Amino acid sequence: MYTKRNILITTTNTIEGIPIVEYKSVITANIVMGVNFLKEFVASFSDFFGGTSGKYRKEMDRAYNLAMEMLEDKAIALKANAVVGAKVDYDEISGGGKSMLMVSISGTAVVIQAPSKGEKHVSEVISRDTLNRLYLIETYKELINGGNWFPKQKDWDVFNSENMTELIPILFPLYITAELNNPKEPYDSYKYESTITNFPSFLEQLEFNEACSIIYGDWSDNSKTHKIIIDLIISNHLFNPEYIVNKIPSIDKHLAIKLLTADKNSYSADDSTPLKKIVDYFDNLPDTGHLEEEKGGLLKKGGTVMICEKGHKTSIEKGEYCQDEYCGLNIKGITQSEVEIIKEFSKKVQILLSVLK
Ligand SMILES: [Zn+2]
Repeated sequence: MYTKRNILITTTNTIEGIPIVEYKSVITANIVMGVNFLKEFVASFSDFFGGTSGKYRKEMDRAYNLAMEMLEDKAIALKANAVVGAKVDYDEISGGGKSMLMVSISGTAVVIQAPSKGEKHVSEVISRDTLNRLYLIETYKELINGGNWFPKQKDWDVFNSENMTELIPILFPLYITAELNNPKEPYDSYKYESTITNFPSFLEQLEFNEACSIIYGDWSDNSKTHKIIIDLIISNHLFNPEYIVNKIPSIDKHLAIKLLTADKNSYSADDSTPLKKIVDYFDNLPDTGHLEEEKGGLLKKGGTVMICEKGHKTSIEKGEYCQDEYCGLNIKGITQSEVEIIKEFSKKVQILLSVLK
């Protein structure tokens, strides 16, 4: 298990799937507790399943937690990030009519390769801090799933300090709702504000693929929602060609083009095929307008006109974009700046493909 300070403590000598890079030394933590309480305990042995055993248990747990913390301190001091072969011993020390309990935990401090986030290790020991953290997460899950609850700034501070990335899948729909409701309910905006400001940076705690699996999940067919998600993809550099190639046919073409301005931190050969497909998709956008031949007359010149998807007429001599001042669409229903975005994207993909092959 990982402690709050991110030290892995395990009873086994090796950790499956994680290489040990360096052995530091054997470390031990001893905690002596409860003068006479063991004697008391023994005296009331018949009462074992009654009240006294509760007190005994509590005292043992306290000693155990303190010893774990001490062991952790020692590991950190050695610049180790894990303790393997951890062993716990309980000893009774008596003398001079007094009896005490000593808890010793020993193990080998080691340096392991930093595990990727999200990996979980199961172990028999769990610290108080870990338990508290899990308890908090459960409490927050109940609140969020209960509905109509939005985290306040103090909650976001807890999410951040405890690195509660487990909550991101259920915080994501909350973020969408907050973004959707905020402009609609200005009198209620305090409710959504901290979620709107905190969620995007909190999402950065997740590694790229993990974040994508949440963000590219279920998109409703509401273009307002699409816009919110696309803005998030742009701000967090979550451009994922593999997901996007499947999303674009079902989203508004203007939003799909906006998506092409998004980026990610690194590309690999796996991206080649979906990137090519995305370029193909935009190269083959269907016409939404059409051309018509107009006969000349006494007062007007004949020639070919483009009827844009909104029904405006533009003579093709005046160019390929609709001349209506609020329109500017070409025969495929996109604007000049959108055509530029597509061109830039294809250029970028060409460069990538030449490097990635
Ligand atoms: Zn038009």
